[in-house]
Amino acid sequence: MVCPMFIDNRRECLLKIHFLPTYTLPYCETERHEECPFFKTINKIGNQCDCVDKCALYKHFGAGDFRKFEQLTSDYCLSDNNVNCARFKLNKSGGTVSSTLLPDGGELDV
Ligand code: SF4
Ligand code: SF4
Repeated sequence: MVCPMFIDNRRECLLKIHFLPTYTLPYCETERHEECPFFKTINKIGNQCDCVDKCALYKHFGAGDFRKFEQLTSDYCLSDNNVNCARFKLNKSGGTVSSTLLPDGGELDV
């Protein structure tokens, strides 16, 4: 079963997430769409970090490895473990969050 947001070979989720992720067809064209972070976010499935809408990392990580993005969001953004995310903690303490800071405290390769 394909994702309901994959219409005429177009990812209509673009209208809500506002950028085009890299190769996601294994998700869009199969039942794995239910594992897609964007599918979960748009449909408000499960726990979600309250920073998802404005988090630069969440919005732009899709330019990289989508499988890795799915793992990262599963470990942090779309779980109640978001409170342990380095970005989340820094943001809540009023610090400046760089666009490349990863939830585990590492740096995104750009
Ligand atoms: S599986 Fe994800 S990327 Fe593909 S159409 Fe659905 S929401 Fe968009
Ligand atoms: S868990 Fe961290 S990376 Fe994910 S949306 Fe929240 S602040 Fe951003």
